[in-house]
Amino acid sequence: MKKIIILGSTGSIGTQALDIVRANPDKYQVVALAAGSNAKLIETQAREFNVKNVALFNENAAAELKLKLADTDIKVLSGADGVCELASLCCDMVLNAIVGIAGLRPTLVAIDAGHTIALANKETLVTGGEIVNRKLKEKGVTLLPVDSEHSAIFQSLQGAPTGSLKKILLTASGGPFFGKTSNELQNVTVKDALNHPNWSMGAKITIDSASLMNKGLEVIEAVHLFGVPASKIEVLVHRQSILHSAVELSDGAVIAQLGTPDMKLPIQYALTYPERDMCFESLDLFKIGALTFEKPDTDTFRLLPLCIEAINRGGLYPTAINGANEESVRLFLEGKIKFLQIAELNEKAMNMCENKTDFTVEEIFEADKAARKIVREAVL
Ligand code: NAD
Ligand code: MG
Repeated sequence: MKKIIILGSTGSIGTQALDIVRANPDKYQVVALAAGSNAKLIETQAREFNVKNVALFNENAAAELKLKLADTDIKVLSGADGVCELASLCCDMVLNAIVGIAGLRPTLVAIDAGHTIALANKETLVTGGEIVNRKLKEKGVTLLPVDSEHSAIFQSLQGAPTGSLKKILLTASGGPFFGKTSNELQNVTVKDALNHPNWSMGAKITIDSASLMNKGLEVIEAVHLFGVPASKIEVLVHRQSILHSAVELSDGAVIAQLGTPDMKLPIQYALTYPERDMCFESLDLFKIGALTFEKPDTDTFRLLPLCIEAINRGGLYPTAINGANEESVRLFLEGKIKFLQIAELNEKAMNMCENKTDFTVEEIFEADKAARKIVREAVL
């Protein structure tokens, strides 16, 4: 039995991870669950999976959860500290599926506790990549990618000799606005932006997919995961979302991982690595017919090149653009700004970032706060 802790259990990745556990009750034991504020769902999950520890970031929701679970011996923790404490409990693996920079501290705590990490929370690496990598080395801890592209790259690299990676081919679906001009994007609505053609995901990452910010964040994530500069990562728009990414090795061999657009496979691979387990859905290439690849339109979707600029500049720039993006996406989802303002505000905040090359976790959070403030003040 593998003992796992799931952070972000009520979200898109979290609930799919629990689907995998449900399908394999003899293989996994969920020891703890954490989420933001959904007391009702986490209560159901805690009871179904007989979990002994739960945490909610939102204090009021945690108080409500305590009442709901009063008839059990389940321990309820609360706040950011509660989520971190939960991440340090005894287990074999922590799956971090929290959304946003809120996932950074729990990742660091879990590494400190010596837990293997299955990482969906890309913002952990975007903001704290250097610190996370240092800590992983120091503690001898393994971090396994869950993001489908990074899982595909990781899978493609199995058996490749060290130093043989020449280039990463990072695929992007292009999202709902592929082929549109800036003019056509002037008045797109939240509903349009949430209408992803291939993947069903949480709201924030769905908006990030529509703006190509998600691909920008993924370039930064890949830099930290695979130790290559952004110049060795090529982004290809692949509308079918079947080839989840590929690597080119020193001899020119290109190795890719293909599959249906279903996050269960990369989630499960992180849970079972290096073993393989059950198949949820086979890929039928006859049904797909053709796989196509195109260059991204970086004039219209400026957040992709801006993220690449952020990682090339280094330091706190990736944190600044990430923090600005979390804030501007929130404002967009609340109907307070237009879609194209997301990129404008992110760029503004990134350019106003007070950079440091050597920084602490506290300084990451300060840079995050400063970027969010710039966005809010620009809108008010
Ligand atoms: P989601 O919004 O569906 O779920 C987020 C989860 O995090 C929820 O359980 C929420 O309650 C919890 N949460 C939010 N703030 C929290 C906080 N401060 N403390 C503790 N928990 C908190 O998001 P998602 O789509 O599942 O994405 C989760 C992460 O995985 C993101 O970083 C995303 O980029 C990444 N990811 C998601 C997918 C996908 O298919 N959904 C694919 C690749 C990567
Ligand atoms: Mg992805």
